[in-house]
Amino acid sequence: MEDGKPVWAPHPGDGFQLGTIVDIGADSLTIEPLKQGQKSFTAQINQVFPAEDDVNKHVEDNCSLMYLNEATLLNNVRVRYSKDRIYTFVANILIAVNPYYDIPKLYAPETIKQYHGRSLGTLPPHVYAIADKAYRDMRVLKMSQSIIVSGESGAGKTENTKFVLRYLTTSYGTGQDIDERIVEANPLLEAFGNAKTVRNNNSSRFGKFVEIHFNEKNTVVGGFVSHYLLEKSRICQQSQEERNYHIFYRLCAGASEDIRTKFHLESPDTFRHLKAGPLKDPLLDDQGDFNRMCGAMKKIGLDDMEKLDLFRVVAGVLHLGNIDFEEAGSTSGGCTIKNQSSQTVEYCAELLGLGEQDLSVSLTSRVMLTTAGGAKGTVIKVPLKVEQANNARDALAKAVYSRLFDHVVTRVNQCFPFHSSANFIGVLDIAGFEYFEHNSFEQFCINYCNEKLQQFFNERILKEEQELYQKEGLGVNEVRYVDNQDCIDLVEAKLVGILDILDEENRLPQPSDQHFAETVHNKHKNHFRLTVPRKSKLQVHRNVRDDEGFIIRHFAGAVCYETTKFVEKNNDALHMSLECLVSESKDRFIRELFENSNNTKDSKQKAGKLSFISVGNKFKTQLNILLEKLRSTGSSFIRCIKPNLKMVSHQFEGAQILSQLQCSGMVSVLDLMQGGFPSRAPFHELYNMYKQYMPAKLTRLDPRLFCKALFKALGLNENDYKFGLTRVFFRPGKFKEFDQIMKSD
Ligand code: ATP
Ligand code: MG
Repeated sequence: MEDGKPVWAPHPGDGFQLGTIVDIGADSLTIEPLKQGQKSFTAQINQVFPAEDDVNKHVEDNCSLMYLNEATLLNNVRVRYSKDRIYTFVANILIAVNPYYDIPKLYAPETIKQYHGRSLGTLPPHVYAIADKAYRDMRVLKMSQSIIVSGESGAGKTENTKFVLRYLTTSYGTGQDIDERIVEANPLLEAFGNAKTVRNNNSSRFGKFVEIHFNEKNTVVGGFVSHYLLEKSRICQQSQEERNYHIFYRLCAGASEDIRTKFHLESPDTFRHLKAGPLKDPLLDDQGDFNRMCGAMKKIGLDDMEKLDLFRVVAGVLHLGNIDFEEAGSTSGGCTIKNQSSQTVEYCAELLGLGEQDLSVSLTSRVMLTTAGGAKGTVIKVPLKVEQANNARDALAKAVYSRLFDHVVTRVNQCFPFHSSANFIGVLDIAGFEYFEHNSFEQFCINYCNEKLQQFFNERILKEEQELYQKEGLGVNEVRYVDNQDCIDLVEAKLVGILDILDEENRLPQPSDQHFAETVHNKHKNHFRLTVPRKSKLQVHRNVRDDEGFIIRHFAGAVCYETTKFVEKNNDALHMSLECLVSESKDRFIRELFENSNNTKDSKQKAGKLSFISVGNKFKTQLNILLEKLRSTGSSFIRCIKPNLKMVSHQFEGAQILSQLQCSGMVSVLDLMQGGFPSRAPFHELYNMYKQYMPAKLTRLDPRLFCKALFKALGLNENDYKFGLTRVFFRPGKFKEFDQIMKSD
């Protein structure tokens, strides 16, 4: 950076602003903004970056810029976004900004055709280019591939995932049912697993990995969906501006008269589980969506019986939510169902195939096995207080709905079965790093997952980049990046990891969130990644003790977790009376939902006794299986970016976007590339590209010698490129320069 040359300096709203350096201090710079009439200010040296000569120019691959840093990346993405070019490459990584409106022709069938079999970089950046690369890599390397789509809520992960699935099935499918089913499974999954939140009107409240399987001839043969962590708390509680899962409103809005009568459906405002948030959203068409969802169900082969089974359980969960309790008049300290004359319990029992009396008893009392007085295994019935009965009711609703969701995924998988497959392309659509005002168990799990994915990203992008330099004999200095294994260990290590500490707490006779938090702090005194929150942080809204939480220093920033409800949320087991109730339902479908869950009869009894099935450890196991799978495949990354919080088109909030680029690890990639050789071209490609400009004598040389001779003749600076064994590597921006010299002559 030199005096007088434009630089990018921090700006609170835009992320960066242009200015010139007017004074240089020990570790700060005085900057004069380029915008007229603005005052000079000082900025830390390490937050000021050199700008490109022409800041209005944009490039398809960010690596062809002269200066690779977070400011030039942000500017490149900004200029492109203003021209509706929402996709940008950073080498092989695709950045995708959500346009929040339909850009004409961007995903049209003719665009799909264009990208067929074309190498990355030969056409404008596009999610189709990544999909095609994955396909070509699979075919050439005979190796499964994965595409990891990440970004915060509303960034466009699910939409881009769908574009990948559609691209692959239309381009490389058989033209039969199976192709359509892979695409049409989505509306069904979204109906049961998506909801309106403040961040996204169609927010996925579960993670998924969708595999498209191919045969030896590289044609689609089937698919498989794995799902992760459905957000269960939403079923019984939503914050003010959010809604429950779409299916509830759609069923109320779109069901036929016949179904409405049969399932005793009324408008959403009659149901406790729905009336907390907005009942209707002007942007959502519940009735139309209901019809579209039914269409999708038909296309994937669900018959009317199956459809009614699903709807019946959804209605049952709604009625269950309306059951209220009041203190019993007796001295037992228990409770009874309020307003016995209403038909709520009757409806609920009918829809879920339960005895009305059994349901009432199971909700208001709890069966326990006692070992007291040596009478091992005596069953006693303990009456529940109103609050406990409320909890039991909600636990039942959550269990029934989440089993229903598991069933929907299982059913979807049955509609694109395959007997054998040679390879697959998997697309991962899972929530990115989350940091809210209040962070609970859900954020803890999702951020743990993002630590694992970040580690994978580092391995693939940073480690492999360096390995390539080594393999090509480039002798480049090693670039360091922060290894986050210590953070992952803090969460998942055996016994001392937070997940195991939490499980240990769940197994205590009287577990408590507070004792759990204390144990975490005791076991990890002075851990670099873990600190006790300052009082003020937790006590802003409620009277929370400062040991009821912890701060974890994640790769993407520090997050303060409030441990209230961690113990409850970590437990997937219903108390024994409820478990028995549903597993002995008269309704075959309900019985199956609970049979197919992870416990067979024996372990069900065990679970009843232990009354604990760990949510955290199940997720850990699933995640480790997923990562093992990812590591065994070739990988591509799509980083989705949310342009603004208002969810509108044509608005670019620079500072917000910058922080997303930082969180997604893109800034470390740029650091690596700026110090390295981000543009590269195999000798034979350069030879083919430029031989037409060269005298015949030169073209008789082999490609490597040809390139050497060419570079010498052009007098290129030897610091700007390096010859590897198979290709030339260029310093940032130098390939573009070279290309321009060649073509201008
Ligand atoms: P969440 O984590 O909450 O599930 P997400 O990253 O999956 O969020 P999407 O649901 O894919 O976000 O996108 C949010 C909304 O943004 C979509 O419903 C759609 O309206 C719009 N959108 C996303 N990508 C595009 C696109 N490429 N073109 C047009 N609109 C888009
Ligand atoms: Mg989504």
